[in-house]
Amino acid sequence: MSKIKMLNPIAELDGDEMTRILWKQIKEIVLEPFVDLNTEYYDLGLRERDRTDDEITKQAAEAIRRLGVGVKCATITPNAGRMTEYDLKRMYPSPNGTLRAMLDGTVFRSPIIVPGLKSYIPGWVKPITVARHAYGDVYKAVEMAVPGKGKAELVFTGEDGVQRKTIYEFSGKGILQGMHNRLDSIESFARSCFEYALDTRQDLWFSSKDTISKIYDETFRETFQRLYDSEYKSRYEAAGITYFYTLIDDAVARCVKSQGGFVWAMKNYDGDVLSDMISSAFGSLALMTSVLVCPGGQYEYEAAHGTVTRHYYRYLKGEKTSTNPMATLFAWTGALRKRGEKDGNADLASFADRLEKAAIDTIVSGTVTGDMAALYNGACTVVDSESFLKAIAEKL
Ligand code: NAP
Ligand code: MG
Repeated sequence: MSKIKMLNPIAELDGDEMTRILWKQIKEIVLEPFVDLNTEYYDLGLRERDRTDDEITKQAAEAIRRLGVGVKCATITPNAGRMTEYDLKRMYPSPNGTLRAMLDGTVFRSPIIVPGLKSYIPGWVKPITVARHAYGDVYKAVEMAVPGKGKAELVFTGEDGVQRKTIYEFSGKGILQGMHNRLDSIESFARSCFEYALDTRQDLWFSSKDTISKIYDETFRETFQRLYDSEYKSRYEAAGITYFYTLIDDAVARCVKSQGGFVWAMKNYDGDVLSDMISSAFGSLALMTSVLVCPGGQYEYEAAHGTVTRHYYRYLKGEKTSTNPMATLFAWTGALRKRGEKDGNADLASFADRLEKAAIDTIVSGTVTGDMAALYNGACTVVDSESFLKAIAEKL
């Protein structure tokens, strides 16, 4: 059998700990036997980030910008403990934070749905993808403790003068917060959401609290509506999908009663809170995928989970671990499918489809990793990561 060719490379960002072990196994067992992998390799493992003073992370972002497609392994975000464990020169920032800042994208998180694995909300038979606006609001807020009696004001000093509004006349102690957002950031978020929903042919929901926040949240609502009317309406109609705005409270209630199958765009705080609720309701963090979609048309795929440190320490002691490689595998299939689409390489795109189907069929036929056993309806066999990948290769 001749291997599938890749016309253009993708950026390959390696990572840390257990996911670094899975990364190698995935390539050896289910990718390299079938595809002539064409990647530009960047080692984002913590030792290499330390050796290069984190330059490697910037080079990787640059490569994604240039090549249009990237796939990333989970990486350690160092804390005090890691400083000693890895004898680091300094406490490097989160690689995902650096990549997002350089590529200015929106993160979409969606679960892998496997028939026969329980979801805590049985009505959710299709994925719900959460898109969180990752700029501003309470995450960039300025706060103040009010010591006592006094007047709090909102003051804007512009080129054409000063605007002020009274926030509150305090008669005693209290608290204050000032937050902001930028119109260009809201527009680029809205565009990423409209594009992603079109790309995946799913309805798009957006929700906010515009009834209470008549300027701030209303600006978000108005921006989405304006871009929809001027740029997306006819493309959505042609694709048979809809854009739908509703109040956040109503969206939460509808979501629980829905069957899934839509993209839900949210403001920063709403997305932070609800993405954790939605991923745990779907059953397992190990089945959650994540993609960064950039306004420049670049895509970076990864698993939503971390480096699975506890399993790695067991691996280092020589134990075989039953770590779930699904989300990391789907990061690869996502990237290969996108490369195939961008290059008009139907063989590569259909390989990604077949590999995903083989992985899902492996679980359906009863071969699982430890974390999935608890969610499984009926009898199943728990195997280690390597045997699980070999079973997938067999099906493929
Ligand atoms: P984590 O690696 O996601 O693991 C948390 C727990 O979830 C694991 O101990 C394991 O539970 C379970 N789990 C996660 N993925 C699994 C999988 N594929 N298969 C089976 N079980 C899985 O989160 P963490 O322990 O908070 O963070 C570890 C490191 O990852 C940290 O250094 C953090 O900085 C980094 N991190 C990176 C990213 C990223 O690069 N995107 C994201 C988050 C965290 P059991 O131990 O109970 O089996
Ligand atoms: Mg959160």
